[in-house]
Amino acid sequence: MEIRRLKDLATLVSLSKRRGFVFQSSEIYGGLGSCWDYGPLGSLMKLNVKKAWWTAMTRRKDICGIDAAILMHPTVWKASGHVDGFSDPLVDCKECKTRFRADNTESYLKDKKCPNCGSKNLSEPRQFNLMFKTHMGPVEDTGSVVYLRPETAQGHFVNFMNCQTTTRYKIPFGIAAIGKSFRNEITPGNFIFRTREFEQMEMQFFVKPGSDESYFDQWKEIRQQFYVKYGFNVENLRMEPHGPTELAHYAKAAVDVQYKFPMGWSELEGIHNRSDFDLTQHAKFSGKTLEYFDEANKEKFVPYVIETAVGCDRLFLAFMCDAYREEVTKDDKGVEDVRVVLGLHPQIAPIKAAILPLSKKEELTSVAEKIREELAQEWDVQYDEAGSIGKRYRRQDEIGTPFCITVDFETANDQSVTVRHRDSMKQDRVALSQLESYIRNGLK
Ligand code: ATP
Repeated sequence: MEIRRLKDLATLVSLSKRRGFVFQSSEIYGGLGSCWDYGPLGSLMKLNVKKAWWTAMTRRKDICGIDAAILMHPTVWKASGHVDGFSDPLVDCKECKTRFRADNTESYLKDKKCPNCGSKNLSEPRQFNLMFKTHMGPVEDTGSVVYLRPETAQGHFVNFMNCQTTTRYKIPFGIAAIGKSFRNEITPGNFIFRTREFEQMEMQFFVKPGSDESYFDQWKEIRQQFYVKYGFNVENLRMEPHGPTELAHYAKAAVDVQYKFPMGWSELEGIHNRSDFDLTQHAKFSGKTLEYFDEANKEKFVPYVIETAVGCDRLFLAFMCDAYREEVTKDDKGVEDVRVVLGLHPQIAPIKAAILPLSKKEELTSVAEKIREELAQEWDVQYDEAGSIGKRYRRQDEIGTPFCITVDFETANDQSVTVRHRDSMKQDRVALSQLESYIRNGLK
């Protein structure tokens, strides 16, 4: 059997639309650039992605979670450096009106040429701030400007003291959050890889200065293990350290976890040593002290921060890319049969089990419906009685359902069903009384 991996994003965009993972936003109006809606399966899967990350973080005894507001005091973004520094250099082509980034466009970096039409009639680069601005309250003047947050991290910094005093955690400890962020990206694209509205999963780990380098290394390892645990092909992952000239203004050291997407190696997650930059800045701008008092050694210090930051949508995309495979077999005449499988980790798969009565006869459907009701108390499951059993299996393979439960004519006699496994296509006969624990074990 030949296995084909995902060859391009278009295949995934089409599967996503056809099966209800991701739709273009406002599609009936022609769509809105780089905005996407998660459909019936996509929204379930996205919750699973978040749950995997959230539990990996907050079930540790040294990390708490928060859920901070998207709108924050405008001074937060002055302190963080975003008002002055969160911008990309933008160039306009005066011939074809294409707008592009000066710092990552190959034709511009090489020959100062437009990437679209090749013209050299270009504007000078202008700094373009990526934050979305809006106004708070009924008066639209400069005093009412607020920003949609471009990252969740600032919510962690401004709540550092609130979290430390309420949890009574001692340093080192971390704060984790999942939430929407907004960036007016100049060149969004590649499906949900780079969008203007997206979700981030960020964790800030506050450590004693001097121990930061060791925790930075530890977090690289912990994050690598996360990807291994959820079944990623390790050859599609790599860690790329930032060179000194690539480091962000706040960072002492940084590494990108990169994934080999169909369009090439690209950042999936950032792990940063942010030093004491953020807390020092917020102390300065707010006038509040953000020092930690270490009781044991009777000393005060501003903690350093190790950050892990991953986009939920980008991780969702990486899961889809990594899981997609086509199993190709040929019959005697050389005619190809292609089985499309999303080999998602069972905890990430949107539907855990499909219940399939072999026929639409009442004696089978009533048992199947009863099984559906019972399993639905615990998991997201689907009931499907339409089409041949082979077609129904294929439909479930394509959306990554780990188990198909078939109710057949024997079920009434032997009180058992057939459970078919997505990857091996192996079938087991399982007693109805054992079904729930069988599925539970398989989902671990
Ligand atoms: P990039 O270089 O890709 O623009 P970044 O280095 O600016 O990303 P960070 O600010 O470190 O990204 O954000 C952390 C994570 O948030 C990224 O690794 C990525 O997974 C996600 N992310 C950032 N910008 C976007 C976006 N526009 N759309 C989707 N996810 C994003």
